[in-house]
Amino acid sequence: DSFVYAGLCPFVLNNIKKSGYLKPTPVQKYALPIIMSGRDLMACAQTGSGKTAAFLLPVIDALLSDPRDLIISGHHCEPHVVIMSPTRELALQIYSEARKFAYGSTVKTVVVYGGIPAYHQAQQIMRGCHILVATPGRLIDFLSKGRITLSSVRFMVLDEGDRMLDMGFLRSIEEIMEHPTMVPKEERQTCMFSATFPEDIQHLARKFLHNYLFLGV
Ligand code: AMP
Repeated sequence: DSFVYAGLCPFVLNNIKKSGYLKPTPVQKYALPIIMSGRDLMACAQTGSGKTAAFLLPVIDALLSDPRDLIISGHHCEPHVVIMSPTRELALQIYSEARKFAYGSTVKTVVVYGGIPAYHQAQQIMRGCHILVATPGRLIDFLSKGRITLSSVRFMVLDEGDRMLDMGFLRSIEEIMEHPTMVPKEERQTCMFSATFPEDIQHLARKFLHNYLFLGV
């Protein structure tokens, strides 16, 4: 059991080492090769399982091994990775993990969430962002103002899917995933994490994931 065998690049391996992770948790061990192979993934994993690193590590590895230019127009940005989270608290956790694993690289991460004025977040976005961590409401807000475009999305991550539905975000998730600028599911990679796998989550997975693998740990 070692991160080395997952095929992550030395840069990411070094940041894992610096963060003190000695060996992958089960969800990391099984999700890493699936995501790195390019397949969509539906993973059932609880909070505390290490699921955040399970999707962040392969995503950051992909950004580093195939860097693509950021389109920054001074008005809007086109993130390469969008991670949707149900709450501000979780979004901030994902953001700090992403910063930790991308530390020392040119990968820019921005977090946006509701409950505070959008001005500062809009400024951050306009400076460019590869990885956008967002709660659904604030993301829709920025999409409707044209400040974010989804036409450069390579990875879409839906974290804590069941909690997002419990909080009433179904319509918001659909609006984002079906946004006119969104890259078709065949041309991006989509991963959903959820503690449970009830019918409404299965429905989301069928609708928005493409030929996905299922992982239960
Ligand atoms: P998560 O389930 O992603 O919220 O992670 C739960 C906690 O476990 C976080 O504090 C992580 O920093 C920590 N963690 C994740 N993966 C590992 C690992 N492989 N080794 C040690 N700690 C980890």
